Amino acid sequence: MTRILHRSSRTEPPLAVRAEGSWITQTGGHRVLDASGGAAVSCLGHGHPRVVEAIRRQVGQVDYVHSGFFSSEPAEALAEMLVGHEPGGLAGAYFVSSGSEAIEAALKLARQYFLEVGQERRQRFIARRQSYHGNTLGALAAGGNALRRAPYAPLLAAAFSHVSPAHAYRGQQEGESEEAFARRLAAELEAEFQRLGPDTVAAFVAEPVVGATLGCVPAPAGYFRAVREVCDRHGALLILDEVMCGMGRTGTLHAWEQEGIAPDIQVVAKGLGGGFQPIGALLIQGKILVAIRDGSGSFKHGHTYVAHPVACAAALEVQRVIREEGLLGQVQALGQRLRQGLEARLGQHPHVGDIRGRGLFHAIELVSDRESKAPFDPALQLNLRIREAALAAGLACYPGGGTADGRAGDHILLAPPYTATDEEIDLIVERLGAAVELALAGVAQ
Ligand code: PLP
Repeated sequence: MTRILHRSSRTEPPLAVRAEGSWITQTGGHRVLDASGGAAVSCLGHGHPRVVEAIRRQVGQVDYVHSGFFSSEPAEALAEMLVGHEPGGLAGAYFVSSGSEAIEAALKLARQYFLEVGQERRQRFIARRQSYHGNTLGALAAGGNALRRAPYAPLLAAAFSHVSPAHAYRGQQEGESEEAFARRLAAELEAEFQRLGPDTVAAFVAEPVVGATLGCVPAPAGYFRAVREVCDRHGALLILDEVMCGMGRTGTLHAWEQEGIAPDIQVVAKGLGGGFQPIGALLIQGKILVAIRDGSGSFKHGHTYVAHPVACAAALEVQRVIREEGLLGQVQALGQRLRQGLEARLGQHPHVGDIRGRGLFHAIELVSDRESKAPFDPALQLNLRIREAALAAGLACYPGGGTADGRAGDHILLAPPYTATDEEIDLIVERLGAAVELALAGVAQ
């Protein structure tokens, strides 16, 4: 019996003994096509030789230094690559070990920024319901995922409030245009600023494409321009959480590039290091760096593994591979193939309510009735049944949704590696289609 406290205490996960390219092998030789990279992590698949070599080299050269004493070559080079050319005004980086740590750091950085510039009343954050920003207490308080928050109440909740998600499939009204929907949501955000007192809000926090909680939901056209305007009007920061949807996953390096805006603080993780090492980062606007440098002089934060040299070396090589091998173009092409395959295989299925996403970040949402969009009873755990059927058939996909409050259907999230082949994309569609049918047969209504 395992001595590890796994996430599910009812079933022990199979042992993975080898991972190579898009494939994971379990004990006994069962091979599984990794269609979600865990939770949208493994952007280069597994065992990429260039990244393996970069890690080996860095461990032999400088394995670890504390960021309070030394910087390291890979950390400097990674920061230069990510923000050296001021994409959207981003000018500084801060490296941590995970997405949750990065969100926590972003919230603290936003607060410290306002202290530095003498606006100490700005202590509140507005986020969105049905969002996910991580599992530490501060990140859970920011997130709007009711199921994940409930066991840990009371959270550090006083500073956080939530507005509606930008979820067209479930939120756009009959006859309402995308633009009008975006305007309505921005008006709701404006009202929340007014309710709280606009000069008390530090930041609005949002995922450009909502990942785990809703399943690859991009915002309606014009939404991010409109919420950027609301933040600017009231002098608040815009924090974009690209932990899941960032670093090329949606077909551009940053998902916000497709929205015609830029954030004040961007949070990235998963695809930054591609799972080869645990690493997350904040990418920060120049005005925040300057305020801190000219003010108290340092960000009052830190962990033992900040800017870990081996993690930075791995991420640096992952990002070099993405650039040098033209993988953003590949994400766009494979993303189209995936979308078309899903539409063809499942688009007319009576229990597939929606197929959505961008690039290699797509989800299907299951409903008991397409007309009413009524979700299946969450007690049926349809998403988990699909995951189990898929795994048995040699496909790893990521289940989500199915919230007890009935506001979201079960969904399955797909995030294959940018290095996948056409045949692998087709196989993902085929195996997922079969797993959906098998799982539905098991819950026949
Ligand atoms: N933010 C988003 C959008 C995420 O999807 C996740 C993880 O799934 C996190 C934050 C937390 O990242 P981590 O699990 O690395 O702490």
